Amino acid sequence: MKTIIELPLLPLRDVVVYPHMVIPLFVGREKSIAALEAAMQGDKKILLIAQRSPADNDPDVDALYKVGTVATILQLLKLPDGTVKVLAEGEQRADVVKQLSASDAEYLTAKVEIRDTEEISTVENDVLQRALLEQFERFVQQGKKVPAEALAALSEIEEAGHLSDSIAAQMTLKLEQKQAVLNHWDIAKRVEFLLGVLDTELELLTVEKRIRSRVKKQMERSQREYFLNEQMKAIQKELGEDEDGNNEIDQLKKRIDDAGMSKEALEKAHAELKKLQQMAPMSAEASVIRTYLDWLINTPWKAKSRVRSDLARAEEILEADHFGLEEVKERILEYLAVQKRVKKLKGPILCLVGPPGVGKTSLAESIARSVNRKYIRMALGGVRDEAEIRGHRRTYIGAMPGRVIQRMSKVGVRNPLFLLDEIDKMGMDMRGDPASALLEVLDPEQNHSFNDHYLEVDYDLSDVMFVCTANSMNIPAPLLDRMEVIRLPGYTEDEKLNIATKYLVSKQLKANGLKEKELVFESEALLNIARLYTSEAGVRDLERQIAKVCRKVVKEQAAEKKVNITITAENLEHYLGVQKYTYGLAETENQVGQVTGLAWTQVGGVLLTIESAVIPGKGNLIKTGSLGDVMVESMTAALTVVRSRAQILGIPTDFYEKNDVHLHMPEGATPKDGPSAGIGMCTALISALTKIPVRADVAMTGEITLRGQVLAIGGLKEKLLAARRGGIKTVIIPEENVRDLKEIPDNIKADLEIKPVKWIDEVLLIALQYMPEPLSDISPELLIKDDKRVTEGNDGLSTH
Ligand code: ADP
Repeated sequence: MKTIIELPLLPLRDVVVYPHMVIPLFVGREKSIAALEAAMQGDKKILLIAQRSPADNDPDVDALYKVGTVATILQLLKLPDGTVKVLAEGEQRADVVKQLSASDAEYLTAKVEIRDTEEISTVENDVLQRALLEQFERFVQQGKKVPAEALAALSEIEEAGHLSDSIAAQMTLKLEQKQAVLNHWDIAKRVEFLLGVLDTELELLTVEKRIRSRVKKQMERSQREYFLNEQMKAIQKELGEDEDGNNEIDQLKKRIDDAGMSKEALEKAHAELKKLQQMAPMSAEASVIRTYLDWLINTPWKAKSRVRSDLARAEEILEADHFGLEEVKERILEYLAVQKRVKKLKGPILCLVGPPGVGKTSLAESIARSVNRKYIRMALGGVRDEAEIRGHRRTYIGAMPGRVIQRMSKVGVRNPLFLLDEIDKMGMDMRGDPASALLEVLDPEQNHSFNDHYLEVDYDLSDVMFVCTANSMNIPAPLLDRMEVIRLPGYTEDEKLNIATKYLVSKQLKANGLKEKELVFESEALLNIARLYTSEAGVRDLERQIAKVCRKVVKEQAAEKKVNITITAENLEHYLGVQKYTYGLAETENQVGQVTGLAWTQVGGVLLTIESAVIPGKGNLIKTGSLGDVMVESMTAALTVVRSRAQILGIPTDFYEKNDVHLHMPEGATPKDGPSAGIGMCTALISALTKIPVRADVAMTGEITLRGQVLAIGGLKEKLLAARRGGIKTVIIPEENVRDLKEIPDNIKADLEIKPVKWIDEVLLIALQYMPEPLSDISPELLIKDDKRVTEGNDGLSTH
């Protein structure tokens, strides 16, 4: 049934009111307020219709939709500012049939047609209601926020038409869509329309959700890092590490940029810094990188000391620091002069070779001082592993740069004088050959790009001045090839005395806080220290003994208030205890079977006692003492020489069958090996067999051949020094070594009678107290042959 009624009209700007809906409205327009008032005076019913355009301030009925809702005013409140708040409840749909009021009327009125609610079957209603509710629930699940109580309320609405109105009211739809729901009188059509709307919305929601999750993922990835970094900064700030914006990374960056690195190193450092930045600051990896960067920064890349090439000054310093060593100093100055001329360090590397304590290390220090380079020393003794020179790769736990880079960062400049000490003591094993790594360090062709395994970047060593020291010439050949060897053979007693008075005493007085007049060493005392308390080629022990005296004196002065002590030959024992070495002849008396040999060892030349004895036996050769392979061989050769000369030396030819021959070489402090004891052993054997004593003041050195010829030996200078030190008067040397004598300073040769020999027979003439009688049944050819061997003037040799 349709009814037509006339009602005051309230236009709504942006809202559609449905039946059953309670809604608060704020009304400000005069016409609207008038319409409300008119309604209040009547049965409180009013027609609510949405405007087509919300901006229209004074719409007439044409500017409104054609379907509205009849509502009852539940409450009306006039606000102080003249506006009105209304609470209205929608009741029924209404079609506008006609607008009644003119445009200038006080308020709008309209004639509307209202209809009874359409009757539909319960089944249809249920189907529609359920479909709608399900769809709406899905819509809510997709994330649309709808209050829980509204949802509960909706599920209680049984009538499908009512339900669709209520759902439309809950949704945020466009005004036209909302109005379209209102326009549908027909329930089925209304539900259908709303389902369509819900479908579209659902679709939109899924797409939106998909897009949002994709965007979110992207954002997560890029922003996560940003957020974390920001968070980390915040944490660091909290911990006080970020004061003045100078956090660790910034500081490191500054240090890297200031270090003056090579391009390669700089790039590497920046890459590592970037890695560090992205790491948790306390992690193990971060600390590995931090240590690495520290090494990289601390390696001297640009700092240099200003090198002087003033030769006069260099000479002055070398003179002031070291006594004697004229030849050595001369060679050093020549070396410096050449470097000055070519302005490069490309020449060979200086290598100072000599026994311990002859001043190799201190010379190197003086060279550094004289050319104004910083000094740094690296001991190579016991270095077996290549990694010690070149470092370990960073993958090793606790890896570090090799010693070269370590020393360089310690010294802090890129052009120091770098002393490679004891280069002959370097070992080699399966971990690689340190010598080849060292070659890369020393070779001027390669060392501008020295690669340390730890640093990973090339480092330029070409500005470094390398100096090596060694005790022996036992240096790997490729290294030796690049060196200029300067030998320091050892000092004579005079030189030692001079070094002690001019350098060592004052040095030790100073070191022990004594004044010059408080402790005076007499020359005699110093000489005795050198002779009786030391046995060395250098002066290290001498210095140590002087230091010992100084310490004792300091203690005495403190305890007994003594002042000004003079050390004399007499009171020396009081300060140094019983003498340790016997000075003078190795043996004072001529002995049977005992010969003084001369050996060359790493601590310089030494006297070597060779003993021999003949005992009844079965022809065995017994060898004892410290014997290297070469010595054992020359021992056997010596025996053959003796056997081949037995008759002429008056030795029964069958001596060998009835006796054992024993040769012994006392160990002494240092191991020795080499063929130069050959003539010594031969003489000792002959003496033992003939029972003729050997002269104790004769020392000898020389290799022997099976035919009895004497061959050249090495280390003549050191051996002569040892002979002199030992108080030997006559030294027998191979004739081939005569040419070496020219290079040996006169002061070494002065007190020695040097006798060059070619054959063992000549040795016997000099060394034996007298010559043996040949056996009477000697065969004539032997004699003739032997005659030729005997040189002129050897009148002691009987040759019947
Ligand atoms: P090396 O390196 O050859 O083993 P050092 O350089 O350590 O020997 O020298 C040991 C000590 O002897 C140092 O105190 C050094 O000053 C001193 N010395 C060596 N030779 C001389 C010399 N000719 N003049 C002054 N002092 C010397």
